[in-house]
Amino acid sequence: GTTPAIVGLDSTYADQLSALAVPWQGADAPDPRLLVVNEPLATSLGLDVERLRSDDGVRVLSGASAPEGSTPVAMAYAGHQFGGYTPLLGDGRALLLGELVTGNGRRVDLHLKGSGPTPFSRGGDGFAVVGPMLREYLVSEAMHALGIPTTRSLSVVATGRDVRRTGAEPGAVLARIAASHLRVGTFEFAVRQGEVLRPLADYAIARHYPRLTELPDDQRYLAFFEAVVEAQAALVAQWMLAGFVHGVMNTDNTTISGQTIDYGPCAFIDAFDPTAVFSSIDQGARYAFGNQPAVLKWNLARLAETLLSLIDSTPDDAISAVTAVLDSFDERFQNHYAAGMSAKLGLAGEDIDPALIDDLLALMKTHGADWTGTFRALADELRGNSTALDGLIPREQLDPWLTRWRSELAEHGRDDAADAMDAVNPLYIPRNYQLDAALKAATDGDLAPFEQLLEVVTHPFDRRDDWSDYTKPAPPVFAESFQTFCGT
Ligand code: AMP
Ligand code: MG
Ligand code: MG
Repeated sequence: GTTPAIVGLDSTYADQLSALAVPWQGADAPDPRLLVVNEPLATSLGLDVERLRSDDGVRVLSGASAPEGSTPVAMAYAGHQFGGYTPLLGDGRALLLGELVTGNGRRVDLHLKGSGPTPFSRGGDGFAVVGPMLREYLVSEAMHALGIPTTRSLSVVATGRDVRRTGAEPGAVLARIAASHLRVGTFEFAVRQGEVLRPLADYAIARHYPRLTELPDDQRYLAFFEAVVEAQAALVAQWMLAGFVHGVMNTDNTTISGQTIDYGPCAFIDAFDPTAVFSSIDQGARYAFGNQPAVLKWNLARLAETLLSLIDSTPDDAISAVTAVLDSFDERFQNHYAAGMSAKLGLAGEDIDPALIDDLLALMKTHGADWTGTFRALADELRGNSTALDGLIPREQLDPWLTRWRSELAEHGRDDAADAMDAVNPLYIPRNYQLDAALKAATDGDLAPFEQLLEVVTHPFDRRDDWSDYTKPAPPVFAESFQTFCGT
């Protein structure tokens, strides 16, 4: 059914790229209940929060009814999953409700996840459950608060439907806001359909890189590829600086916009470890923390392959052109990463000794130092707190490095270096053991720990005395055995 205009939605994707969309509707929700709604986000999008909270609003957010005048679609895409190609994936449990145009003219997607089976469901049931949807809600909002480009979360509605997982679990639908849901996998699907590739590329350019529309035809698509490479190099550098492990970096989870998308088995590292893997299904450690830049580059090579026919008159020229751009990924990533690391250490400028960073990472790895805790402790050390680093890196091992750092600070330090560090190094991240406990309580009906953790991780830089528990690393037993689960 339809619901009177709770939200006014455009459908440029469904209209212009109908070869990549199947009009569809969500499953009924037996007893929809709003678990969480993002008031600041709703307001910034020009949505009326009270109407979202109304019965009609909650039905729309559950997928059970579509706003009047909207054209909900399941989006088609392909993708390389763990390196293997699947020619048809698509929204198997999701719907693009449409696009919102905000007051300042920004166009964003309103998308539902967990809204029921679609023609793309394959063996899946089309549903999602409360724990993982609240997990995406909280982690994506934490990422946003950290300043990392990401999809946002508007709401989670419990549907009142029991969904079979290991046992029966409460069903839920997440409403997600994204710059768009165009992915590398959308291009992989389109290139095999032929006709729709150029319209897709033009649509992506107009929506995400509009300045490129002015370029002549023979430059535009290479420039588009370069823009995506730059956006993704910047993004993965931010992940590495925050200690974020995405966990399922398949090409269908790599956006054209440069936003982080699809918070399935993601996790933040505690102890620094480049080999860290949390996802139960990543047996080959393909998506380990330290592999993320290389995997991203691999995914961008898959995008490049889809664009060849648009880029140059001869295949050889097209291949050399995209290869040159792809090869620039490493330097772009390194530049973003080095700049971010310098900031984390209170340094500015381009002459920072790279060994200073490498040697700190080596010490952190050797001693299993908590990633988030160490950078805040270094700022406290600068302020004269000589016990701040206790329990992170042994003093006698660290002292020579501290001496080098202090002399680098004397030359290239930011003004008020310790405060500058605290402005970029979070105190609070969603720690795996705390998030797990909050999600378990929420699944059992107690939302209070979730709401409290959400409040903390969406204020990641503001020290508050009553939040001191949230800075504590996991007990070692938990840290060693922690796993996340995909597709749940
Ligand atoms: P993901 O790993 O979340 O990126 O999902 C990969 C693919 O599996 C996408 O095509 C999803 O739509 C599909 N999928 C994941 N979970 C389900 C489910 N419970 N039912 C149907 N399709 C699903
Ligand atoms: Mg996905
Ligand atoms: Mg997922």
